[in-house]
Amino acid sequence: MTRITAPAQRVALAKTAEALHPQHIHDKRRPDMSTTSSPSSLSAAELAERLRALHADLTVLSPADLAGRHPGEHPENFGAGVMAQPSSTEATAALVSWCAAGNVAIVPQGGLTGLVGGNVSHCGDVILSSSRLNRVIAIEPEEMTATVEAGVTLEALQLAAAAHGLTTGIDLGSRGTATIGGMVSTNAGGILAFRNGVMRHQVLGVEAVLPSGAVFSDLTRVVKVSAGPDLKQLFIGGEGAFGFVTKVVLKLEPQRPHRATAMLGVVDARTALSVVHHFRSLPAVTLEAAEMMWPRYIRNHARLKGLDLSWLEDGASALLIEISAESVEAATAALEEGLETLWEPLDLKGGIVAQSLDQTRKFWDIREDSGFYYGEIPDAASFDISVPPTFLDTYVADLESRLKAIDPTYEAYVYGHIADGNLHLTLDKRGPLPDPELRAVEDAVYTGIREAGGSFSAEHGVGFEKQHGYRIFVSEEKQALARTLKQALDPKGLFNQGKVPFA
Ligand SMILES: Cc1cc2nc3c(=O)[nH]c(=O)nc-3n(C[C@H](O)[C@H](O)[C@H](O)COP(=O)(O)OP(=O)(O)OC[C@H]3O[C@@H](n4cnc5c(N)ncnc54)[C@H](O)[C@@H]3O)c2cc1C
Repeated sequence: MTRITAPAQRVALAKTAEALHPQHIHDKRRPDMSTTSSPSSLSAAELAERLRALHADLTVLSPADLAGRHPGEHPENFGAGVMAQPSSTEATAALVSWCAAGNVAIVPQGGLTGLVGGNVSHCGDVILSSSRLNRVIAIEPEEMTATVEAGVTLEALQLAAAAHGLTTGIDLGSRGTATIGGMVSTNAGGILAFRNGVMRHQVLGVEAVLPSGAVFSDLTRVVKVSAGPDLKQLFIGGEGAFGFVTKVVLKLEPQRPHRATAMLGVVDARTALSVVHHFRSLPAVTLEAAEMMWPRYIRNHARLKGLDLSWLEDGASALLIEISAESVEAATAALEEGLETLWEPLDLKGGIVAQSLDQTRKFWDIREDSGFYYGEIPDAASFDISVPPTFLDTYVADLESRLKAIDPTYEAYVYGHIADGNLHLTLDKRGPLPDPELRAVEDAVYTGIREAGGSFSAEHGVGFEKQHGYRIFVSEEKQALARTLKQALDPKGLFNQGKVPFA
């Protein structure tokens, strides 16, 4: 193990839109629109013209304005050719009311980092973007809450909270671009979910414009509300099917800037979980991250990124671990002592403690810039599943066999948020796969997950790419209930047509 003192504290890695949009497009097929109402007969330019007159707080982009803009994670996100950008709830409501009256379909969009095709739009739709709803309205340091407009990026909120010694309880690699509204809508999870839960556990209040144009306002700032069903939950994970989120109240967490970071070699997930357990049990230390990369992922990424892996034994997976304590020195000491204690009992296969901010960044880059290998395997089939952490080794071993049974050359890149059992899987094969083969791969990936008590979609949502998973995974009764709610709130089916399956 390389031991170096004073690892630098980790700082949020600002990601530009360009860096975040490496075109890791998973499925370029289009949503099935056969069961949805017909789109408006107006052209995009005509729609743009009419929308401009609706409200002073509404900016409207035409096809010409959108040309040349990066569409985010799916090339058809801007298919509608017209984007409405309200800067107030009132303007959002005016736009939605107008669309409801004219049967114009709406596609909500935030930072466009969504990975399941939830933002894809078509000619005749209007894109409703949160990009100008971008104010941090209030931070209440004593309450540890923030009230923000939906288009505020995660990183902008982190920076605003940092001025009060606070931060968000959720963190994602896409922090520079993902918006709070988008994160609410996908019920985002990320690096800290093992400790703080997912967005659902962090959101205190939501304001949203319903498909009718009415405003649902529940900007509660308290944890305790025992006043009937918690209806705002419909919008959390609703993927834009039940309305457009305009404001959000979030819990905040204390910042813990004094950190130490290491990469370790582990033989399996169970070993990684033992490391996690050790550091979660130390009273003066907080575990900030535990991200595991299986051998194929870490080896290939290190090769492409030029990271020296001479410390990692062949065949081992890499565990990226970060802890915080009252000082950098204390964090470093706890990390080194912990590794000393665990080294032999867990038969660790190498380890390196970050010695500089640059090295810490490189460790994180290898984990967070997971999209760059799509340059080598564009349109590869990708999945985001969760299983109880103690089931991870069985799941990965069985999955490897199931994939090989479909095609002996099939292998998967596997990595993820180990402490909460969330794995990201990418088939090492250029896509898109023909439908029957994709179905076979999906079935291979989903086998055993329900029985184990996991989910076919852990944190990315359903969109239109994961509808097969939704249909085979979610019970008939739950699907029927979702359709009933959708029908009640959006009887014309105008919000995010043809995507989330309850739409
Ligand atoms: C590099 C990278 C790393 C990532 N890491 C993680 C991770 O660790 N954990 C994780 O959970 N996700 C991760 N993601 C996925 C993505 O960042 C999240 O799904 C995020 O929540 C999407 O936010 P967004 O603002 O980009 O939303 P968008 O992509 O714009 O939209 C996502 C969905 O929400 C809907 N929507 C957007 N805004 C609104 C609104 N205001 N009201 C109603 N509906 C709306 C859209 O219609 C769409 O269905 C990652 C993505 C990338 C590219």
